Amino acid sequence: MEYVRSLAYVNVSNLLNNVRNIYNYVNKKIFAVVKADAYGHDAEIVSKVLEPLDYVEIFCVATAYEGYLLRKSGIKKPILVLGGVLKEEVDIFNDFNLTPVVSDFYHLEVVKKLKKNTVHIKFDTGMRRLGFYLSEVDKLKNHLNDLTVEGVLSHFPSADSDRDYTLNQILEFKKVLYTLNIKPKYIHIQNSAGIVYECPFCNAVRVGLAIYGEKPTVDYPVELKPVMSIVSKVVSLKKVKKGDKISYNGTFKAEKDMKVAVVAFGYADGLPRALSNKGYVIINEQKCRILGNVTMDMVVVDVSHLNEVNVGDSVIIVGKSGNQEITFSDIANISGTIPYEIMCGISKRVLRKEVR
Ligand SMILES: *Cc1c(COP(=O)(O)O)cnc(C)c1O
Repeated sequence: MEYVRSLAYVNVSNLLNNVRNIYNYVNKKIFAVVKADAYGHDAEIVSKVLEPLDYVEIFCVATAYEGYLLRKSGIKKPILVLGGVLKEEVDIFNDFNLTPVVSDFYHLEVVKKLKKNTVHIKFDTGMRRLGFYLSEVDKLKNHLNDLTVEGVLSHFPSADSDRDYTLNQILEFKKVLYTLNIKPKYIHIQNSAGIVYECPFCNAVRVGLAIYGEKPTVDYPVELKPVMSIVSKVVSLKKVKKGDKISYNGTFKAEKDMKVAVVAFGYADGLPRALSNKGYVIINEQKCRILGNVTMDMVVVDVSHLNEVNVGDSVIIVGKSGNQEITFSDIANISGTIPYEIMCGISKRVLRKEVR
């Protein structure tokens, strides 16, 4: 561990706090979304911590391969593959007991070859990505005879930004269920942002972002704690003279003599290059701005204002130190994207470490 320069601490107490608070707020079964290696948090760590909770019913992944990896790490609870099933994936679904989300007549044909006939059926009520339309329900019914429809679902594209659109989706979903006229074990449409909407006929929620401690909206009513914090190290200190240009392409010109620190964290670790000359890190409880372009393995930051700084000092990339804090949302806002993308982008080189 001491040979690793950058660590991502995964705080499982905070993870449990978040899942518990979400459950107490919605009072519906939780489907924990652990796709994309649990949004970069390590799907094995996250799933093992959540599996013992009785209200966590299902783990959601994007692809069969992600489901296979979860089974390899010992997860026994049902695994729902959100991205459907392709014919070349039949064996992996069978061998590792994965449940497909069916959202295309192609998927229905493939599902007939599975040993277990349990499926969730997805409807498109506004996302225009995966799912059948309400108008296809009658045709669909002819194909459901030999299947166990354990779940019916849909998905919100704009629960964090468009209330009317989302309310309309809930109405459309209700029509789908009425027309389908079956009683599945699970009915689910709400994502993290979606849990603030009433859906009395739904009995499960699929939550990702919120369990990892990021609020999808500023007025989100559930108390959440950040799960991941990222710490790197100072690898070199130096002085630069007024007029010196820092890093590739010289996009930062020193306005005065300065002291700078070189930090072992670059875009190959997941620090967006868009933070060049815009972002900051925390060293010894003080904000230090990024100078010049972020490079692949390192970034140069201003430490002129620090009384004391040494090679080897810890550098907070994401997290809290003293009165200072940097969240995934902060980084996303500065670099013009969403916290999801920053979380998923923290690379393999950053070692994940479970802490309590
Ligand atoms: C990723 C995903 C979710 C989780 O969304 P969050 O906003 O992270 O809660 C839910 N449902 C589907 C279909 C998804 O792809």
